[in-house]
Amino acid sequence: MIFETLDTFGHEQVVFCHNKDAGLKAIIAIHNTVLGPALGGTRMWPYKSEDEALNDVLRLSRGMTYKNAVAGLDIGGGKAVIIGDPSTDKSEALFRAFGQFVESLGGRYITAEDVGIDVNDMEYVFKETEYVTGVHQVHGGSGDPSPFTAYGALQGLMATLQKKFGDEEVGKYSYAIQGLGHVGMEYVKLLRERGAKMFVTDINKSLVERAVTEFGAEAVAPDEIYDVNADVYSPCALGGTVNEQTLPRFKFKVICGSANNQLSTNAVGDEVAKRGILYAPDYAVNAGGVMNVALEITGYNRERAMRMMRTIYHNLTRIYEISERDGIPTYKAADRMAEERIAIMGKLKLPLGRAKPRFQGRIRGH
Ligand code: NAD
Repeated sequence: MIFETLDTFGHEQVVFCHNKDAGLKAIIAIHNTVLGPALGGTRMWPYKSEDEALNDVLRLSRGMTYKNAVAGLDIGGGKAVIIGDPSTDKSEALFRAFGQFVESLGGRYITAEDVGIDVNDMEYVFKETEYVTGVHQVHGGSGDPSPFTAYGALQGLMATLQKKFGDEEVGKYSYAIQGLGHVGMEYVKLLRERGAKMFVTDINKSLVERAVTEFGAEAVAPDEIYDVNADVYSPCALGGTVNEQTLPRFKFKVICGSANNQLSTNAVGDEVAKRGILYAPDYAVNAGGVMNVALEITGYNRERAMRMMRTIYHNLTRIYEISERDGIPTYKAADRMAEERIAIMGKLKLPLGRAKPRFQGRIRGH
């Protein structure tokens, strides 16, 4: 059963990690290492069943392959999940035992923070393995990625405005922004600096107040954001907000924001395209976070990070070219761009920095 699933989604390796004394039950999924070692965060979550945990890690690791490929990184896709409640089940032993499993993979998988994990947990993982990103800045880590993600999203927005309206004057257009957290508030600040008209919402009222008083935005109630008469919808909160219920309410011409998994289904993505709304694929727009941590692998540097964020503009432009070339919606064009890059680069370069040369052909399935 499991090999059938791995065959369908194309995973290379799935590692079940168990340490009874440390209370560790974790799964590491390496989806694809053609472009380089698999990078993706570790999520800690009280999964109701092992199947649920396995499905999540398989889905998320595959997503990382596409995201890293479109971002232009020499990095493959992977992810890990730890089964447990982050508020009660964390311990030094748990994270050190997990770190030892990461180490045992010899660099085929490089981890980072994800939901339920913070920089202090990573300190323990880092004691057992070097294959960690997102560690504290005192260890050469890159720190909070959110300002970079917001700046990267702005680059994606400019490429999208250029495609839709033929210019990229951010301040000429109006925006409906959902979510004013780490990324959303920074994005609002960047739009404000460019003179944009903004409608904002968040379930946290104090954040809305800040956006209104500090950045001159107009507040709307959480459910009303979908009805706003604005050019651009920027989801910066949760996934799935472009769905069968919300889409008929849209007067927006563009969707571009930082949230993951914005489209509830592929059918909704097709409908978005049919309605002439230009969707900026989420994982290409919000790649700033992963670009930032990926730079830790070769030595983090803020200047390089900012330069790299600007490449998001070109990645989006390429996606729109593929969308036109092949007559497909943009969400499919992003996947195609990833698959094409993996296919071409896989023939050009030797992957798996850490693996001994004699193993490389085998692991790549040649
Ligand atoms: P965050 O938790 O700091 O902010 C999310 C905000 O959304 C919070 O203020 C929350 O109150 C608000 N929110 C939740 N539900 C809402 C609702 N129904 N209506 C309105 N507001 C709601 O998270 P973040 O780090 O800013 O990330 C935002 C999104 O971007 C997430 O989807 C995240 O996965 C994605 N993302 C973030 C990064 C990063 O660098 N932080 C990188 C890539 C992707």
